[in-house]
Formats: sequence, C-alpha cells, structure tokens
Amino acid sequence: MQKAMTNRALVVSIHDVSPLTMRQTDQILDDLKALGCMPTSLLVIPDHHKQGRISNDDAFVEWLQKRVAEGHEAVLHGYYHLRERRAGDSFFKKFVTQSYTAGEGEFFDLSESETSRRLVMGRAEFSACGLSVSGFIAPAWLLGSDAEVAVRGAGFEYTTRISTVSDFSSGSVYMARSLVWSVRSGWRRFCSLVWNSLLSRALEKSPLLRIGIHPPDWNYDPIRSQILQLVVSALAGRRTMTYQQWLASKRGQK
Ligand SMILES: [Zn+2]
Repeated sequence: MQKAMTNRALVVSIHDVSPLTMRQTDQILDDLKALGCMPTSLLVIPDHHKQGRISNDDAFVEWLQKRVAEGHEAVLHGYYHLRERRAGDSFFKKFVTQSYTAGEGEFFDLSESETSRRLVMGRAEFSACGLSVSGFIAPAWLLGSDAEVAVRGAGFEYTTRISTVSDFSSGSVYMARSLVWSVRSGWRRFCSLVWNSLLSRALEKSPLLRIGIHPPDWNYDPIRSQILQLVVSALAGRRTMTYQQWLASKRGQK
C-alpha cells in the first residue's frame, strides 16, 4: 500500500440511526459494504422524536450490537433529535431551527444544565444497550457554546460540526468540511447534487474526507448514486475509518 494512500482518510457517518430508520440504515450499510466501505460511524438517537427509547427495542439493540461487533462505531446523536419551538424565537433562530434543520436542531440553544441532563440520559441508553460511547454529535451539527461546555464536562472525547472535528482530549480542532445532502424538496436535491460535486473536487486532496448520509437520502436514486460514486472514488486513495479511529491515528502522529 502506498504511503500517500494510508495517510488520507474517509469517514462515512450515517446520521439518525434509530429503530425508526433501522431498515434503511441496513440497506445503506449493505450498499457501502458491497463497495468495500467499512467501517462507519453510526449516529444513534436514543429516543427518536420521542417515539420510544432504543433500550426498549430488543431487535434494535441486537442489530446495533452486531454492527458494533463488526467494527462500526456508535456515536451519541442528540437525545430526541427535536427542538421544541419557543415563544421568543428571533427571526434568525426561526430561520436556522425551522428552515435549515426542519425543527431538528435539538442542541442549538439548550442550556448547559439541560444539555447535561440529556447527555446523562443518552449515556444511560447506550449503557442499557451494552455499548460504550466516546463521541457526541449534535443534530444538524448545531451545538451551542453552553451545550459544548456540557459535552466536554460529560467526558465525551470529541464532537464534530459541519466544518470541523474537535478532539477534546488533545484540544485540536481539525478543519474538514463534510459532504451532506438535503433531500426535502426538488430544488434542495438539485442544489445538493451540484454543491457536493463541486465540494468533493475541492476536497480531493484533503487529509480527511467526511461523507454524511441521512437515511432519506436513499429514497432518491440520483442522490444515492452520487454518494456511492463519491465513496468509490474516495476508496481509491483513502482508508475508511470511524471518527474514533481517525482521532486515535491523529493522536498517534503527535
Ligand atoms: Zn441528525
């Protein structure tokens, strides 16, 4: 294996993994595996839209344990993945939380104490499933500054935002823009295809390429095809790993 190849990494993350999306996630993982893309980081929601805690769903727990045993990483991804609308929301907050994220930015402006409470609940759900967790990634990557203090305080090793990966244990913040698709409407899908084609070219030589997949992406053939094509080209010159593995490799280089 060439040196240049081993130095560049690909992290594929699947967002919004829960009993509600298990079947679709399975399809995505099968498609990725068929290309040789293993392992991934699975962003798990403990109580997706308040529809039921993961630890109460035996089939899901068994499935997730099996995926982790195969090498995938389970990452805590919010708690409910839902931000309740508030009476005093400014235009900016409404724009970010409703239009940009469709009301999913749970940790956008939570207080430190409420964040801590949900992190404890989230960890407890992972423990109840027999899983450990080292990463926390906020829904829609929206993590307020108070909330970040709580995430660090809760002992998580890292978080990611749309343009960065933050390693709390080393204090390093790595710039790495994630590819991500928006499929909620025709124009968003069109823009996503154009944007990600341009962005992937701009990121060709970056040390870390991040591909963020959401289960609904798989409902649209052009989106699914583009993601799989980008994975194929990335695999030609990059090693696939989880966020946890990538950060461990960076710490090892110091
Ligand atoms: Zn999400």
